[in-house]
Amino acid sequence: MKTSKVIIITGASSGIGKETALKLIAEGHKVYGAARRVDLMQDLVAAGGFALEMDVTNETQIKSGVKQVVDAQGRIDVLINNAGYGLYGAVEDIPLDQARRQFEVNIFGLAAITKEVLPHMRAANRGTIINVSSMGGKMYTPLGAWYHATKHALEGWSDCLRLELSQFNIDVVVVEPGAIATEFGDVVVDPMLKNSGKGPYQKLAHDIANATREIYSKPNAASPASVIANVMSRAVSARRPQTRYVAGKMARPLMFIRKYFGDRIFDKAVMSQVK
Ligand code: NDP
Repeated sequence: MKTSKVIIITGASSGIGKETALKLIAEGHKVYGAARRVDLMQDLVAAGGFALEMDVTNETQIKSGVKQVVDAQGRIDVLINNAGYGLYGAVEDIPLDQARRQFEVNIFGLAAITKEVLPHMRAANRGTIINVSSMGGKMYTPLGAWYHATKHALEGWSDCLRLELSQFNIDVVVVEPGAIATEFGDVVVDPMLKNSGKGPYQKLAHDIANATREIYSKPNAASPASVIANVMSRAVSARRPQTRYVAGKMARPLMFIRKYFGDRIFDKAVMSQVK
């Protein structure tokens, strides 16, 4: 029987977050899902979890959500920073306010909830923070400059956090998913075509839209979210979790090529996927 932990997971209304929340609830943990669409977390509540209305860019909602958990449970053992989305389009086309919003959600929102949770973990002298990065935190794709900028930033940010929190017995874990069948692809495609579907980058934008639709809709082209939920469950229950977990379609081969071959070879490998 695993120890029951108090867990907050952001982005629990869909995809990886929802699948992970349901698995952790089934394993007997006290799980608080957080997202903007509370209506889409009612299955978590029915399964025995809790739903917090939280936009990760809204500090008032973050503060009240964390307070609600501490008031009810007296502690937070695990924070899973999973909420995020991919802003795609050419750098020349994407308005900077959209780029700033990408950083607000994928980095500063994640940082805001982490800052709110840390005093409670420090007081308990234990805890685990799991940051959902991406294989895209180590490699790159065309028209993904702003998304990859946030995930590359998250990789370095998480490494620094691990160093400063080890003295308080708080683990920091990075999860790097490959292609996972969720709403992620739909969220990418329409705004990308709005930004770059016409004009000098249109061919690339339409090629990437087609490749993205294919990956996220074709059976077996992307892994099911359960692949990442299993990894999260391992990280939550491990006495000494790994610093990084890599899982899901394409993650290992692409990260291998990126790590051991030169930029030009990786450029060719990644561009061969969108033609
Ligand atoms: P989904 O689009 O299915 O889920 C994204 C979740 O993030 C939703 O629950 C959404 O909830 C939440 N979210 C988005 N914006 C905000 C916000 N401002 N405040 C609070 N919650 C927000 O995608 P995934 O499950 O695939 O994505 C989860 C994580 O996995 C992301 O960080 C993504 O970058 C990462 N990832 C995904 C990959 C994939 O192929 N699917 C690959 C690599 C990494 P709501 O809209 O209700 O607020």
